[in-house]
Amino acid sequence: MAAQDSSLSPMMDQYLRMKQGLPEDVWLFFRLGDFYEMFFEDAVEASAVLGLTLTKRHTVPMCGVPFHSVEGYIGQAVKAGKRVAIAEQKGTPVPGKLVERELVQVVSAGTLADLALLNEAEHNYIVAVFREKSAWGLACVDHTTGEFSVAEFGSQEALAEEVSRVAPRELLVSDEQRDSFPLLRPTLFYDGYAFLPGAAVPVLEAHFQVHSLEGFGCAGLRAALGAAGAVLHYLKHQLRRSTEHLRKLALRPTEGVVLIDAASQRNLDLVDARGGAKFSLLGALDGTSSPMGARKLRDWVLHPVADVDVLRGRQDAVERFLGEPFLMSKLRDSLKGVRDLERLSSKLAQGAGNARDLMALGCSLGQVPAVEADLYVLAEGCPKLGDLCGRLGDFAGLVELLAGALADEPPVTIKEGGMIRDGYSAELDELRLASRDGKAWLAEMEARERAATGIDSLKIRFNNVFGYYIEVTRANYAKVPEHYHRKQTLANAERFVTEELKRMEGTILGADERSRQLEYELFCALREEVKGFLDAIQVSADALAEADVLLAFAESAQRHGYCRPELDCSRNLSIVNGRHPVIEQVQQGVPFVPNDSLMDEEGNRVLILTGPNMAGKSTYIRQVALIVLMAQIGSFVPAESARIGVVDRIFCRVGASDDLARGQSTFMVEMSETAMILNNATERSLVILDEIGRGTATFDGLSIAWAVAEHLHDELGSRTLFATHYHELVDLVHTHPAVSNWHVEVREWKDEIVFLRKVLPGPADKSYGIQVARLAGMPESIVSRAKEILTHLEMSSTRREPKARKRQKPGMPVAREAEVTQLELLWDEEE
Ligand code: ADP
Ligand code: MG
Repeated sequence: MAAQDSSLSPMMDQYLRMKQGLPEDVWLFFRLGDFYEMFFEDAVEASAVLGLTLTKRHTVPMCGVPFHSVEGYIGQAVKAGKRVAIAEQKGTPVPGKLVERELVQVVSAGTLADLALLNEAEHNYIVAVFREKSAWGLACVDHTTGEFSVAEFGSQEALAEEVSRVAPRELLVSDEQRDSFPLLRPTLFYDGYAFLPGAAVPVLEAHFQVHSLEGFGCAGLRAALGAAGAVLHYLKHQLRRSTEHLRKLALRPTEGVVLIDAASQRNLDLVDARGGAKFSLLGALDGTSSPMGARKLRDWVLHPVADVDVLRGRQDAVERFLGEPFLMSKLRDSLKGVRDLERLSSKLAQGAGNARDLMALGCSLGQVPAVEADLYVLAEGCPKLGDLCGRLGDFAGLVELLAGALADEPPVTIKEGGMIRDGYSAELDELRLASRDGKAWLAEMEARERAATGIDSLKIRFNNVFGYYIEVTRANYAKVPEHYHRKQTLANAERFVTEELKRMEGTILGADERSRQLEYELFCALREEVKGFLDAIQVSADALAEADVLLAFAESAQRHGYCRPELDCSRNLSIVNGRHPVIEQVQQGVPFVPNDSLMDEEGNRVLILTGPNMAGKSTYIRQVALIVLMAQIGSFVPAESARIGVVDRIFCRVGASDDLARGQSTFMVEMSETAMILNNATERSLVILDEIGRGTATFDGLSIAWAVAEHLHDELGSRTLFATHYHELVDLVHTHPAVSNWHVEVREWKDEIVFLRKVLPGPADKSYGIQVARLAGMPESIVSRAKEILTHLEMSSTRREPKARKRQKPGMPVAREAEVTQLELLWDEEE
């Protein structure tokens, strides 16, 4: 920043003072007439990032964007990691006088106010985290919807996982705790004072106008409240946002929620997938029709539930829908008419938005009675639907008010009139009449003047510079009467005014001006009216979102032939003819082959799945995890029948999966992710391991895989599905009673391999790698040479095998000795 300099113009002085009050990373968009201008380093940087032309004002670098397209540029700037402060002109500029300017707000990733810049199906969270002793606190605000919630965790890992599920646009850490969160990637270090619980609690109490935060159930959560105080402070003071629509502090559920860490979330393609969101579970399930429903479904997919009663409640609702196909489609139609109530109402309550937003709000709330009527019919004997009905609320008064007040097609602007319907305000009607009458009078005057002067082409017109005037073409100059005063001469015409016309102009323009002002006032009053309904609208929106999701579950169940899984608290699992919910939808041309699954506490707790490449191992083990997850969000599942003992966590690891973005070697990633499972899985967890150990030398990898499987079996007791190409692992069955072997069946046919996609008991007999290589188009010479080598290797390994096998008796309990022998076999092969 250039030093403040007395030679600078008063305007530059004003600019610099404003700029100095802002944090460094913020660009200042300084309103100058029809442009927002940037100066100095801001201009240099912004011109490059936003592709603007860099110019100079005196010696100062500058660039600007037109005011009408500012939103697009702000969006771009925020995407590039900047924040943008907006300074507007106050009042009308008077020549020769410095116009006053005001910093209206700072736009950040979490507060991109314009709906068009947001992905509707995702939340737009700002998160703050704070550590207080052994508690790790988190506060989470979606400024666009008014959601405000907190949670506390016992470890940084747990906190980091929740943060990764929330996927905040901005992450605030206290500038006094810069180094306390190595697992997180903060976007901003914010004023440490704002985080202090001692300061934050009174601020929060004042904000919510309560004497204690007891009512929100979070009075004792000092770490979380510190974070909450900081987010609020940040919104209010640094971003200068209205926070009135943040009405309550919710406690994020941490108990009874199935934890799915970030890596598992990725490996299971829950909300996103390599080929795009369509290939994710969310993509396969999403049939919601409102943005609120889409966000709710996403939340559910990332936060499954372990509470069997809650889940049965949701299942009952889905079943009721399925029993009434007619009501289902009626309900879907009503829900389609509901727009983003959460964001609309929040926007309006902040004093933003236009008449179209009000209209959208009114129309959306207008759907509530229809939704309620249908739900009411279904609610008997179904507490979940009864509860939704009860939360929908009654907005008849507001809907009627808005319908009566707003014009059919209100404009985008709020200061140009045209928003309010005739008949809503007597005063407005009168002004409009005066203006309309005046215009009729002008038409009458035009006819009168034509007759009086004999000029048939005489016209009365209006423009912004001269107001109303009489226009006469050059050919008729001679006929212009005395009392016409010349105003302007054009190439082919002259423009005149008369005393009479001037007088009428005053009446018409005065009426227009007054009616525009009045419309604006009426609009603001309506917007204010919405504020009073904000709480109720938010509750209703949440219920509508839930109804939307449950209905989508019913529709998926119907369309794809899902069944209602039975849930219990056992540690068993049985699925008959299960399918992979995503692959069965996206794979074209090939029918999906269903498979059974059976897990229990005795002989089938750790399933080792072998089979050649491409057989369908990865698909199968993920299918089991996804079916469990679907069951634990209340959805029906792709199977003929299923009985599932609910799980507390789901882990999914894939061998040697790249994570270049985090700059770690693939093997390192694989190992640290696996370590995380071993440290966190319980006997209630479901663990999916796909080719663990693949990222290193064969014997390293095999040994690690082996030890991991043993640990899961002996120590953790988690239900585990382990797909592996380390055929050696099938021997675990002899020494570990809860291990069982499964394989994906293939057939050989004239030296070709046919994939049957059937999962059957017992280990695979061989790996068929060479056949798969041939399928992949490997040259015939390589294929036959590989076969030769294989035969040779197999002969030399069978010669040694008996030594390992002879001391094992199938089905015997764990024998330390046998294990040692198996490992010896490996070691001596490596020598
Ligand atoms: P593996 O892990 O054994 O190498 P994958 O699970 O990746 O095999 O499956 C390979 C391909 O086979 C998948 O991409 C899918 O197209 C197909 N596939 C897998 N399971 C089935 C099934 N049950 N029915 C039909 N196609 C399947
Ligand atoms: Mg695989």
